[in-house]
Amino acid sequence: QTGGGESGDSTPNVAYEDIGGLDEELEQVREMIELPMRHPELFQQLGIEPPKGVLLHGPPGTGKTLIAKAVANEIDAHFETISGPEIMSKYYGESEEQLREVFDEAEENTPAIIFIDEIDSIAPKRGETSGDVERRVVAQLLSLMDGLEERGDVTVIAATNRVDAIDPALRRGGRFDREIEIGVPDKDGRKEILQVHTRGMPLADGIDLDEYAENTHGFVGADIESLAKESAMNALRRVRPQIDLESEEIDAEVLESIQVTESDVKD
Ligand code: ATP
Repeated sequence: QTGGGESGDSTPNVAYEDIGGLDEELEQVREMIELPMRHPELFQQLGIEPPKGVLLHGPPGTGKTLIAKAVANEIDAHFETISGPEIMSKYYGESEEQLREVFDEAEENTPAIIFIDEIDSIAPKRGETSGDVERRVVAQLLSLMDGLEERGDVTVIAATNRVDAIDPALRRGGRFDREIEIGVPDKDGRKEILQVHTRGMPLADGIDLDEYAENTHGFVGADIESLAKESAMNALRRVRPQIDLESEEIDAEVLESIQVTESDVKD
């Protein structure tokens, strides 16, 4: 689960092949972020500016954070995370200060990606729940984005589950003016996500991922990840009686016999 706590620098270790079922969305993200970072000359030649901000929106657990991390990793970019709720919980004035620090850090470490998770909590529609703090923080964010140079070597990716709830000022030109919807996966998407999360698992012969993809309608990536992990834990519990906690080593035969079978998968 994302959304809290993590505030990070450095480069994440998520790759494109860790993302299941979002080929078209990934293609768009790559065109908007990776292309201008790798080849700014293309944009100069065309006389257009690469986007400073891209907004990913869709239900929780569909892979928005994963995409941001994977792009950063792929271009070997410095990665900064801002959690909306976390930044709003700061004391008076500290939220703006922290935003500024994150932008400074990114500009000193280009190419860089700044990921703002749950941006709706920073920038709710004016009038809705926005008070004094939100207004100040939004103003700060807008001014920091306006201040980014137009080379495209710092890109801000924001994520939200509630695209209609964010301040429209953020969605204007030069800010988050590109949007990509990250939706609930269909059957093929679910199968790809199942493949990603069972890649390292010893699956028994009877396990048919097509069948599970068929039967998990409504599951998002995070649900599928839990399903895979839970199933592996069930497999572990089955062999548990054969494992002596006291002994230094687990019998190789027992270890090799561990498999995730159909009975371990419960939804
Ligand atoms: P939130 O709105 O809750 O922040 P999110 O869309 O950012 O959600 P992620 O944090 O990217 O969701 O996904 C949570 C976890 O679910 C990931 O770490 C990953 O293991 C799994 N997951 C989600 N979507 C996918 C996907 N498309 N392919 C593979 N794994 C996925």
